[in-house]
Amino acid sequence: MSDSARPPSFENTFARDLPDMFEPWSAVVVERPTVLVVNDSVARELGFDPSWLRGDEGARFLVGNLELPGMHTVAQGYAGHQFGGFSPRLGDGRALLLGEVIDTNGVRRDVHLKGSGRTRYSRGGDGKAAVGPMLREYVIGEAMNALGIPTTRALGVVATNELIPRDEMLPGAVLCRVALSHLRVGSFQYAATMSNDHVRRLADHAIARHDPELIDSDDRYLAFFHRVMNRQASLIANWMSVGFIHGVMNTDNMTISGETIDYGPCAFMDTYSPTTVFSSIDHQGRYAYGNQPHIAQWNLARLAETLLPLIHDDKDESIRIATEAINGFPALFEREWERRMRAKLGLTEQSPVEANLFHSLLTLFESHRIDHTNGMRALSDVVRGRRERMHALFDMPLAFDTWARPWLDALNLDPRDSNDIADAMDAVNPAYVPRNHIVETALAAASAGDLAPLGSLMEVLLHPFHERAGLEDYARPMPSDWEGYQTFCGT
Ligand code: AMP
Ligand code: MG
Repeated sequence: MSDSARPPSFENTFARDLPDMFEPWSAVVVERPTVLVVNDSVARELGFDPSWLRGDEGARFLVGNLELPGMHTVAQGYAGHQFGGFSPRLGDGRALLLGEVIDTNGVRRDVHLKGSGRTRYSRGGDGKAAVGPMLREYVIGEAMNALGIPTTRALGVVATNELIPRDEMLPGAVLCRVALSHLRVGSFQYAATMSNDHVRRLADHAIARHDPELIDSDDRYLAFFHRVMNRQASLIANWMSVGFIHGVMNTDNMTISGETIDYGPCAFMDTYSPTTVFSSIDHQGRYAYGNQPHIAQWNLARLAETLLPLIHDDKDESIRIATEAINGFPALFEREWERRMRAKLGLTEQSPVEANLFHSLLTLFESHRIDHTNGMRALSDVVRGRRERMHALFDMPLAFDTWARPWLDALNLDPRDSNDIADAMDAVNPAYVPRNHIVETALAAASAGDLAPLGSLMEVLLHPFHERAGLEDYARPMPSDWEGYQTFCGT
């Protein structure tokens, strides 16, 4: 192997700094790994030669069976509120942290496996993962990244050529994913079950990793909490702006870095409705589309609770400060959301009518059952003076025209050419999102051995803002016979 093809070496600051937060562990041996996908762009970012990853050594590395220099594989411990109920000991029940790589931009990235076998945290689980859900993480993660939304990303997915028992026997796989870190709100909850000192060490580690500017600040733990809140406000606003529903926003699935993590029962909404739920076990609508900002705040309150002893020596004072901080979340979110809505509607400046425009547009979409992606995308055509596309979405086009009057009045104040405004709107209103029925069809084919539909889908999703002739099927909402579509946890 030439020097340039040598895989990167690993570091382990997590294991070094936080000895009580993991169990050293090894991945189960996969006898016959077959590489299904390698993510060339992530591979290059990390300093891997993609063709090495596709070869025999790469396949063994991607399932955790080839140790690279510096690697100390661990199963991370974390706790979590799942659907509101607290589990003090979750952790990597089917996952492992291989270590950290400094990428070609100088950024420390976790390299992590999912589906790598049982660990001390597995409880009743088999430690395994199926091809479909692991490819789904790859697809949705890449789609999110192409939409400009912070996310963990797959480095590769490898088939294990074993069958694993689910509702039926399914082909097994291991996902190798990359993240800014795997620190979660649940990591802090886990540290808090041990001692205040554990929380402090974890917070210091998280600050060094994600907010190094705060290291010398006197108020660093409170400042850190504000940073996490800001990242989450921005992330959730991003999700809302493209109709993304995470589906299982448990505290163990909310990162400190502000990246989207754990694509389980997630989905992009077709018809706009704030009550849309995708997880089959979310009977209360806890993680419904419209409830996501509220749940983010609830999760952040759980993080704040763990930080209380670090914020102030006086407990009451600490609670007062943390409460004030957490009460600021709705305004933070609102600011982020309004910024995105403004861009989606082609507006550049805050105007007194805008909040009303945003809410009335969404109410219009909801009452006329408009596809969220296609409705937003059609706005730019209206700015170009063509209403056919928007009118085609409505049974009663007049309802749209009535809404549009004050919006177009506001746009008329903009000195830019309307084509420029429309082009700017097209750069933030995607033409293509991963629609459930198309993703599921591609995954079913891939699970049966045909990767071609997945390849075609990825071509579309990697350029979501660039509308292309011939791709109309990818922009169509879910056919009615798919209605009631749900995805399942515990995959
Ligand atoms: P998730 O729903 O993927 O975020 O996982 C929630 C928790 O369940 C984590 O602690 C996982 O490690 C664990 N878990 C999920 N599936 C399995 C499995 N098949 N075997 C062992 N643990 C699992
Ligand atoms: Mg999880």
